[in-house]
Amino acid sequence: MTTPPVHGVEPPRSLYVHFPFCVHRCHYCDFSVHRTRAPALEDWFECLDLDLDGWFRLTGWDTPPEVETVFIGGGTPSLLGSEMGRLADVLKKRFRWDPTSVEWTAESNPASLSRAVAESWREAGVTRLSVGVQSFDDDVLCWLGRLHNASGARRALAVGRSAGFEDINADLIFGLPETVPRDWQTEVDSIVEAGVTHVSVYGLTAEPRTPLGRRVESGVVRMVDGERYAEEYLSAVEALAEKGYVQYEVSSFAQPGHECRHNWHYWDGSSYLGLGPSAHSYLGGVRLWNVFRWEAYRRALKDGASAHEDYEVTGAGENRMERLWLAFRTNRGLSTRDPLWQSAWTSAGDLLEAWSEAGWVVRSGDSVRLSAPGWLRMDELVAALGARMQEEQKDTGSRNGDGIRKTDRT
Ligand code: SF4
Repeated sequence: MTTPPVHGVEPPRSLYVHFPFCVHRCHYCDFSVHRTRAPALEDWFECLDLDLDGWFRLTGWDTPPEVETVFIGGGTPSLLGSEMGRLADVLKKRFRWDPTSVEWTAESNPASLSRAVAESWREAGVTRLSVGVQSFDDDVLCWLGRLHNASGARRALAVGRSAGFEDINADLIFGLPETVPRDWQTEVDSIVEAGVTHVSVYGLTAEPRTPLGRRVESGVVRMVDGERYAEEYLSAVEALAEKGYVQYEVSSFAQPGHECRHNWHYWDGSSYLGLGPSAHSYLGGVRLWNVFRWEAYRRALKDGASAHEDYEVTGAGENRMERLWLAFRTNRGLSTRDPLWQSAWTSAGDLLEAWSEAGWVVRSGDSVRLSAPGWLRMDELVAALGARMQEEQKDTGSRNGDGIRKTDRT
């Protein structure tokens, strides 16, 4: 790999830190996870330091940049236990943040979130707790290969509240095969009753190389059909809206004032820096990603090599597609006044008209955004718009996947 061209770039607004350890791998998970009961914390802290050394060498930053959000994802960050304060010390050697305004999220698994851990995280400065609930049905949790049961999930949410977290997110997975009985509506109601300020609702996917993916490939498991998938998604959208949650992104629902600022930085094209195996960064138009597996990441850094596996400098056409994709994920959508899109509105006017009539697109004032039924068709809508743009400019990029799929499921 050649040296990434990031010398002198603007520092990031957000920091992401990947904690790669899990006690057990859930059946659907394809994240960068190292399965162990004894996380190699000393090595992990040392590697974070080395990863940071590399970044400051590459960029030439000579004073600690100020960040607005910090996100500790995984893996299972709750296996860090009460070492969150130590992580804060490692990060504060290189970055600064205002403790009165920073949004600092840490993900947790109900199986390892004790009251003592939650309290120590509050003391360390964590402001937002994310709990991987996934379901309130013991059979569903067992089928997913989760370590906790429904009462464990309820207990974890209660622990978070009693430790003083005002911002709590709960993840829920929908779209399970029809052979897995489940009362989805009751589960959505339960998450609301648990008093969380934020809910992330993700559709199950059968990723290759996961136990679930193999079972689907061999025909043992059949994934849910599109109709039921849509029904579950739209029923969650409706139920959460009734309880005052605003859907501000395809998978994200928040009580007013409780949106995740960190994720907004991904969607609005801001810069961010990622540490740890598999972490991605975006700085000055350069996208970089770290070595995926923990062992390879650890070995690379300890051998004095870079944590980065590779990088790409995105071109104007690709940036435009990326912005289209990211903006359509959110309820802000795109502005028709933005010069970047002027020609697209002209060339795709008939598409937008048809989608608006179908109820997939909402046009209000200067903005165009997707509705919930539109989000279910995000792939095809963005691809169709992209194709028009491609015809017009011959320089577009492409993306795969639908936006409701998970970015993290601790
Ligand atoms: S889904 Fe979360 S808890 Fe389960 S293996 Fe993956 S990272 Fe670990």
